[in-house]
Amino acid sequence: MIPLPPFSLLRPDSLDEAVRAASQHKDARFLAGGTDLMVNMRRGLLKPACVIDLSNIVQLHRITFGEKETRIGGLVSLARLTREPELQIRYPVIAQAAAQIAAPAHREMASLAGNLCLDTRCVFYNQSEWWRGTIGYCLKYDGEICHVAKSGNTCFAAFHGDLAPVLLVLGARVEIVGTEGRRIIDLQELYSGDGKAHLTLKRGEILTAVILNNRPGTVARYEKARIRSAIDFPLAGVAIARANPLKNKACLQIALTGIDVKPVQLEGAPLTVSLPLSDEAEATICKQVTQAIQPMQSSFSPPGYRRKLAVNLTRRLLREMARE
Ligand SMILES: Cc1cc2nc3c(=O)[nH]c(=O)nc-3n(C[C@H](O)[C@H](O)[C@H](O)COP(=O)(O)OP(=O)(O)OC[C@H]3O[C@@H](n4cnc5c(N)ncnc54)[C@H](O)[C@@H]3O)c2cc1C
Ligand code: SF4
Repeated sequence: MIPLPPFSLLRPDSLDEAVRAASQHKDARFLAGGTDLMVNMRRGLLKPACVIDLSNIVQLHRITFGEKETRIGGLVSLARLTREPELQIRYPVIAQAAAQIAAPAHREMASLAGNLCLDTRCVFYNQSEWWRGTIGYCLKYDGEICHVAKSGNTCFAAFHGDLAPVLLVLGARVEIVGTEGRRIIDLQELYSGDGKAHLTLKRGEILTAVILNNRPGTVARYEKARIRSAIDFPLAGVAIARANPLKNKACLQIALTGIDVKPVQLEGAPLTVSLPLSDEAEATICKQVTQAIQPMQSSFSPPGYRRKLAVNLTRRLLREMARE
């Protein structure tokens, strides 16, 4: 870690002010909890001339429980997601996943939007300036080649956020505000699929809220595998949501993290399956997972191992949910 490089710090009181500040400072970065941004700045991976702290913007901290939808402000902390009583009733899986992110002190600072926007990770990237210098840096920052796929021109750094797969299976949309106004997109559209510039946010756009349609009767679970169970990013994480439109049939949504450049949602979802789930149906779903993901050598754990983890977590979750 190196000392923080010099930058100017702005702390606007409103969304309008924040958008204006971002349009006036070409090289600005938004700061929420800082648990990802500050680490990357101290590794020399980001050198913004201006940091715009969003914490004073009251509306970004609000959660609204409507009759048809739930709206969670981008700056709501992960700790609050774990203890908000109404959220526990409507979407217990969000609390379950948030509680597995980083450590308690991080969760007090870290935000929902920061978790969805956190940078992609790679063993050749999340290193000190000195370490990266010894290998000539890499495509994602300051270098010419990718050490994971040397012949290509693509960055395969993986997305490891824990909340994205959970929100994907719940059908979340995100609200974005920038100089061109406000837009709402499906969460999946937030991710570009390029590890170098992994978000589709335009410069200066702020992720202001996550919006969820209320879906009574939907059951969802999240499970992750990590090296240190007390604190670690997922080597693989799987979320499954199950809605029972008919008594003997269920619709499944499945999404994964940690094993690809972006969070992966199984195509063709929702998958309609007969209940109880047969061995053949379980095997078909596991095969679909294998085909949908593309883990690369971007972590200390080999891609084949992470692929197996993703499939085994899916199988375990399917079996656990079948017993409920
Ligand atoms: C030791 C350690 C362990 C960790 N373990 C995990 C883990 O297990 N799982 C996991 O998912 N994460 C983990 N993290 C990463 C991080 O703590 C979380 O992802 C956290 O939710 C990031 O939120 P933040 O508010 O701190 O984001 P910040 O660091 O403030 O921001 C992250 C990025 O998002 C951008 N951003 C923030 N808010 C907005 C907004 N409203 N609009 C647009 N852009 C925005 C910032 O500019 C920055 O690029 C870990 C971090 C550490 C240091
Ligand atoms: S995948 Fe390649 S370009 Fe991307 S961070 Fe890793 S080494 Fe760099």
